[in-house]
Amino acid sequence: MPSPSVDVHVQHVARLYEQTQLMVALFDRDDERRYSNPAFDQAFAVTPDQPTNWMGLMRRNYELGVGAAIQTSDIEAWLTSTQSRRGKLPFRAFETDLTDGRWIYMSETVDENGWMLCVAVDITAMRTNERSLRQARDGALRAAQTDTLTGISNRAHILQQLDRHLLRSRTAGAPCGVVMLDLDHFKRVNDTWGHDAGDKVLVHFVRLVSSTLRREDGFGRLGGEEFMLLFPNMDKPTLTQIVDRVLEMVRTSEPLPEVPGFSFTCSAGLSLLDPSLDAKKNIRMADQAVYRAKANGRDRLEWAT
Ligand code: GH3
Ligand code: MG
Ligand code: MG
Repeated sequence: MPSPSVDVHVQHVARLYEQTQLMVALFDRDDERRYSNPAFDQAFAVTPDQPTNWMGLMRRNYELGVGAAIQTSDIEAWLTSTQSRRGKLPFRAFETDLTDGRWIYMSETVDENGWMLCVAVDITAMRTNERSLRQARDGALRAAQTDTLTGISNRAHILQQLDRHLLRSRTAGAPCGVVMLDLDHFKRVNDTWGHDAGDKVLVHFVRLVSSTLRREDGFGRLGGEEFMLLFPNMDKPTLTQIVDRVLEMVRTSEPLPEVPGFSFTCSAGLSLLDPSLDAKKNIRMADQAVYRAKANGRDRLEWAT
C-alpha cells in the first residue's frame, strides 16, 4: 500500500497529465485505451465515437487521414507488421510523425501484466537536419527485424524474443508457451497453383493468426512455411484452446479467391518454455511435437513430451 502522501502526489501527477503537452496514454493488455490525456487525444484524433482499441484507432486515423501519419498502401499489412513490434519489450522509444506536421518521440513502457504506458513529446523543433538520417537508421533497424514477405518478426527477431522469455522464466518463474506451426503439404500448393499463390497463402495465414494474438504475444517466421509463436503468461489448457481455434480458422479459410474451394491446413507443436534447458533444446522440444502432429495425420496439435 502506498503511504497517503504518495497517494496525494500520484493524484497531483494525474492532474498535471490533464494539462501537460506531453501526450500520455495507458493501454491494457488487450490494447484497449484505458486512459489518455487531452494532448494525446488531440494528437491522435481521439473522440468519444472513435474505437477504444489501439488497432481500431490506427485504422480510423488512416482512413480519415488524421493523427498518426501512416505511410502505406495497405493498412492491414501495416497493422500486422506494427503489432509484431508493439509491446514486446519492457521499454522502447522511437520517432514518428503526425499528419499535422508535428514530429514526436514516442516511448512505450510495458509492465509484467502487459499494461502499456505511452508517453510522447513533441520534438518538431529538434535537430531537423539529422532527422532523415535518424529515420533511415530506424527503417534499417526495423527491416533487420522484419520478414519481408509477411511483415512479422523474422527468424532473428523471434529468437531474440525467445531468449528474453527464457531469461524471464529463469529469473521470475514466468511461464511462456511456445508454438511451432508448419503448413501441411505446402509443396503441393506451390506445385499445383504456383509460387505466387503459395506466397499469397503465406500472407493470408499470417494475417489470420495475427488477428488472434494478444499484443504481448510474439509471432515470427523461422523460414519457409515454418512459424513460431510465443505466449507469455499462458497455461496449457488456454494455449491448447487458442491453437485449436487457429487450426480451425486456417482450415475453414479461403486464402485464394481466384481458386474457389481451395483450402489448406497446418500442424502445431506446443510446449512450455523449460527454464532448465537452453533455447536450442527448447526449440527442439516444440519441433519434435510438430513432427508428431505430422506423423499423426496433420491438421492437428501435439504437446511436447
Ligand atoms: P509437410 O506437411 O510435411 O510439412 O509438407 P510440406 O510440403 O509443407 O513440407 P516441406 O518442408 O517438404 O516443403 C515446404 C515447401 O514450402 C517447400 C517450398 O517450396 C515451400 N516454401 C518455402 N518457402 C516458401 C515461400 O517463401 N514461398 C512459397 N510460395 N513457398 C515456399
Ligand atoms: Mg516445413
Ligand atoms: Mg510443411
